[in-house]
Amino acid sequence: MPDPVLALDLGGTKIRAALVHGVGTDEVEADGEHAVVRLERIAEVPTPAREGAPAILGAALELAAQVRGGATVRAVGISSAGVVDTARGRITHATDSLAGWAGTALTAPFAERFGVPVAALNDVHAHGLGEARFGVGRGRDSLLLMAVGTGIGGCQVQGGRAVLGAHGAAGHVGHVPVPEAEGVPCPCGRTGHLEGLASGPGILRLAARLGASAAPHDGRELAAAAARGEPTALEAYRLAGHATGRVLGALLNVLDSDAVALTGGVADADVPVWREALRAGIAAEAMDAVASTPVLAASAGSHAALLGAAVRVLEAPPAPSIPPPAT
Ligand SMILES: [Zn+2]
Repeated sequence: MPDPVLALDLGGTKIRAALVHGVGTDEVEADGEHAVVRLERIAEVPTPAREGAPAILGAALELAAQVRGGATVRAVGISSAGVVDTARGRITHATDSLAGWAGTALTAPFAERFGVPVAALNDVHAHGLGEARFGVGRGRDSLLLMAVGTGIGGCQVQGGRAVLGAHGAAGHVGHVPVPEAEGVPCPCGRTGHLEGLASGPGILRLAARLGASAAPHDGRELAAAAARGEPTALEAYRLAGHATGRVLGALLNVLDSDAVALTGGVADADVPVWREALRAGIAAEAMDAVASTPVLAASAGSHAALLGAAVRVLEAPPAPSIPPPAT
């Protein structure tokens, strides 16, 4: 049996790592199915997000070494927040959630440390790839993943490959204009984008603008307020869900994906009024040919990005080679 892939998922709050078995094309059963995909030694540490790129890299390398232990690994796959230049293994853009992360050479230190092929890709792309291969995208030619949580991101996977784009920035589905967000600031610095209105923090701000009496502090409180039938909470979820659905319907008109997978904190909270408004928004925008596209809850689990990162490094074009350490 081939050696496992050492996979990492580097986010704004946590860094996760695991050994991933069974995702290689040389490990596919005769019927074309990956029979024995499994993760072991799953571990996580808090991201030292405010301490700068060297501290973040150091924490990731230490966790990776700890998870590898005495095992031999065939490759290292990294999923990271930020825009990733996959050909060079560098972060080109990142938000303030990871201080100083933009400009970081991400793959080189891992190649030096472990002496095996290393590839990195954006965390939403990794999530989409993992979901397409091992979740609801299994057996489908294409899948559109939409993550609605602290931010709003997405990934189209086509023919088993994540669509990364010319700059590694494809799939920023939260940064398209919706009329409901007119004048609303977006974390990207512009106004009028879906994310400013309909992400988790966006819905909280929306509820406050609508005049929520006891302003909820987080999504859990807002969902509880909606469950109690508080009108402002219900209206915030309704407006956000409808705007999200409109964007999703419009994306289906462009991409004609086989299915949609929904994930992220807002989607997972599954507030009925949000879900119904989402479906109404899709119905309002999607053309007849794509209106029946299945919209499903993601099923690959919380480690989908680790699976996607492992798949990517085994299938990515080889990165510029760096010699193994002379030990
Ligand atoms: Zn934006």
